[in-house]
Amino acid sequence: MTSTEATPFSLELSEDVREVQSWVHEFAKDVIRPAAEEWDEREETPWPLIQEASKVGIYSLDFFATQWMEPTGLGIPVAFEELFWGDAGIGLSIVGTGLAAASVAAVGTPEQIAEWVPQMFGTADDVKLGAFCASEPDAGSDVGSIRARASYDEAAGEWVLNGTKTWATNGGIADVHVIVASVHPELGSRGQASFIVPPNTPGLRQGQKFKKHGIRASHTAEVILDDVRVPAALIIGGKDKFDERIARVREGQRAKGQAAMKTFETTRPTVGAMALGVARAAYDYALQYAREREQFGRKIGDFQAVAFKLADMKCQYDAARLMVHRAAWMARNGKEFTAAEGSMAKLMASEAAVRITEEAIQILGGNGYTREYPVERMHRDSKIFTIFEGTSEIQRLVIGRTITGLPVR
Ligand SMILES: Cc1cc2nc3c(=O)[nH]c(=O)nc-3n(C[C@H](O)[C@H](O)[C@H](O)COP(=O)(O)OP(=O)(O)OC[C@H]3O[C@@H](n4cnc5c(N)ncnc54)[C@H](O)[C@@H]3O)c2cc1C
Repeated sequence: MTSTEATPFSLELSEDVREVQSWVHEFAKDVIRPAAEEWDEREETPWPLIQEASKVGIYSLDFFATQWMEPTGLGIPVAFEELFWGDAGIGLSIVGTGLAAASVAAVGTPEQIAEWVPQMFGTADDVKLGAFCASEPDAGSDVGSIRARASYDEAAGEWVLNGTKTWATNGGIADVHVIVASVHPELGSRGQASFIVPPNTPGLRQGQKFKKHGIRASHTAEVILDDVRVPAALIIGGKDKFDERIARVREGQRAKGQAAMKTFETTRPTVGAMALGVARAAYDYALQYAREREQFGRKIGDFQAVAFKLADMKCQYDAARLMVHRAAWMARNGKEFTAAEGSMAKLMASEAAVRITEEAIQILGGNGYTREYPVERMHRDSKIFTIFEGTSEIQRLVIGRTITGLPVR
């Protein structure tokens, strides 16, 4: 889309987006919220909630595709904010497949998209999951040092995958896994490709499932790859395109379309939107509490110290939300990210969520520190947003490099 065709940026949500917002909000309020505490304590995948989301159409390829294509770019951020306002652990269980789906949709061939993305969602009667597996024990921020290997078996016409992936959302319980592996290790990240691993492929298994600080309903685990064989056609983007890219890299030209990086670029503002949902939930709760709780014969919100906290929380949330919406609009309308606006949005929203949830605990005092009140869970949940999809330090690195034009390290 050229700049002349872009949908204008507006602070008023379109009617379509407002409809989605209120629909998802009702689901978050009536279905997710009441279940949040239980699934946080259970630390298990909330299958009944995913099924319910599938039944109403929120967990579906159709929903994700429609919101992704929504012309203002705000369909996904607005929907994700509402889901995570309901609860972050359950929210991530509902949207976790989206990262794997986006990695295929962003750079996959039309055949790969048509065959595999629907299989990641399944149907309301038979819900399926997808997992995107890039990180490894020794390769988190440093994705260039991925050790998982993909070698091509010419005789069989198959890729053979070996290695250990870690911290994969839905890892091992997904039906379709997307695995980032190195085909030409000497080329670092430019020698990597992503591969689709179909359901029940021998050699892929779940390793350790992690017990976490927050988002405990979301499944996070290692994925072990032991001579996993997939057909030649399951390299994302196609083998010919990959071979051409490698030839260009070897000739010293710039490689276009590196799969894992492209996935991260398109999903960062949406991660910011998840953080906004948690931040708003904590702010809403603390605001209400400050209006009701009395000490020294007055509402605590009547103390300037508490009202100023609420003022700062509201400012931080609003500022972050404007940045998330701007970045999502830019991404959808083909605007160039000249100052890494996607990373800026993710950085601001995630750090705002940590600060706002912490201040919410402070406003609730002792109650805030107990599991009787939800802000304690929200604070634990908020921290992940400064870590996954690029830590805050990595976002600052990306922004710093973009604005200075220097190879900042
Ligand atoms: C709950 C959860 C879910 C996840 N889901 C997925 C998933 O679905 N798929 C997936 O592939 N991965 C996933 N991850 C992994 C996540 O993306 C990584 O944890 C993240 O990228 C950070 O990598 P790391 O943990 O190895 O930290 P490290 O890279 O070891 O970083 C440790 C610290 O060093 C800092 N640091 C590192 N390099 C630099 C630098 N160059 N300059 C300044 N500071 C630096 C970091 O900012 C951080 O503070 C998930 C992680 C968690 C915890």
